[in-house]
Amino acid sequence: MRTFVYTSHPSRVIFGSGTVDRLREEIERLGRHRVLLLSGPDLAWASARIRETLGDLVAAEFTGAAMHTPVEVTERALAVLREASADCLVAVGGGSTTGLSKALALRTGLPQVILPTTYAGSEVTPVLGETRDGQKVTQASPAILPGTVVYDVDLTLGLPVPLSVTSGVNALAHAVEALYSADANPVTDGQALEAISRIGRALPRLAADPADRDARADLLQAAWLAGTCLATVGMGLHHKLCHTLGGSFGLPHAQTHTVILPYAMAYNAPAAPDAMRRIAEALGVPDAPAGVHDLVASLGGPTSLRELGMAESELARAAELAAATPYPNPREVTAEGIEGLLSDAWHGRRPA
Ligand code: NAD
Repeated sequence: MRTFVYTSHPSRVIFGSGTVDRLREEIERLGRHRVLLLSGPDLAWASARIRETLGDLVAAEFTGAAMHTPVEVTERALAVLREASADCLVAVGGGSTTGLSKALALRTGLPQVILPTTYAGSEVTPVLGETRDGQKVTQASPAILPGTVVYDVDLTLGLPVPLSVTSGVNALAHAVEALYSADANPVTDGQALEAISRIGRALPRLAADPADRDARADLLQAAWLAGTCLATVGMGLHHKLCHTLGGSFGLPHAQTHTVILPYAMAYNAPAAPDAMRRIAEALGVPDAPAGVHDLVASLGGPTSLRELGMAESELARAAELAAATPYPNPREVTAEGIEGLLSDAWHGRRPA
């Protein structure tokens, strides 16, 4: 019998196609009138769509969201927020824009409405990672959790296939690590398995036809479910490694998740046979780590750290950093073990 403690993180979720049109109603429901609209580079089309819907409710706009939520960017956005006397945050974009919204909510207590355009899942977690002087520091608080999420599949139709693949695998990683988490429980098990099978089915369809609305809907629902897992249970070695590689070596978030996942799974497989069996079943493959590797390779996604520009000489330091502090993981984490894992990931060797 397993023992667990389960805490849910409440958010109001609106899901569908064309749901952007319900945004005004959501802001009115919150009793707010002065929106600060947040977005990032490449997202001008999305913020234009939101302005069209919100009209005079938009008091100001900030378009400078950046990866890993640098505090200087948050301070610039905070000045815009104060100047406009904004009383509500609306963020359209990926995890970077959501991160900015969370950082502003933490400092001001303003309500947040998030419209995700990737599969990162940050919109349903009470977690924020901020970067100050090159150091990424993560914290969790109910004050960070967005109150409302509007998922509109239409906002994801233009996400380029390579980004869709890496972002989809980022979601897959949340679900995989939830299954072998020390906090795993029947709710997250169900969410994780549903997310894994939707991702496995949707990614090949989406790569064949990026405008396939049903495949996009499957992936977006999977992103929500996997993000909910990330919010609810502790993650293990895979997330720790990606955090180290992103924070200390500047590697890009979703791409790093995509390269590391099969290797972190292969490392943990001997200590989590039941989770691996269920992942393989959900993906319809004989072996979970090799199946994830093959899925990524078949979609043209990155399969090695070398491709991401990491130097081989940096692997030992990355292993040392990742093994430095103890954290829950099904298999014991040693610097030597991690160095082997990273070496396989650097070369892109298919897990046996
Ligand atoms: P991102 O938000 O940086 O977006 C990646 C790129 O895609 C950007 O250039 C963006 O402008 C572009 N883009 C986004 N949506 C698009 C669309 N529909 N069409 C065209 N271009 C689009 O990347 P991400 O992977 O979504 O998020 C990464 C960030 O989120 C990292 O900082 C990571 O740490 C954070 N994150 C946090 C959590 C959490 O729970 N706190 C969870 C996941 C990710």
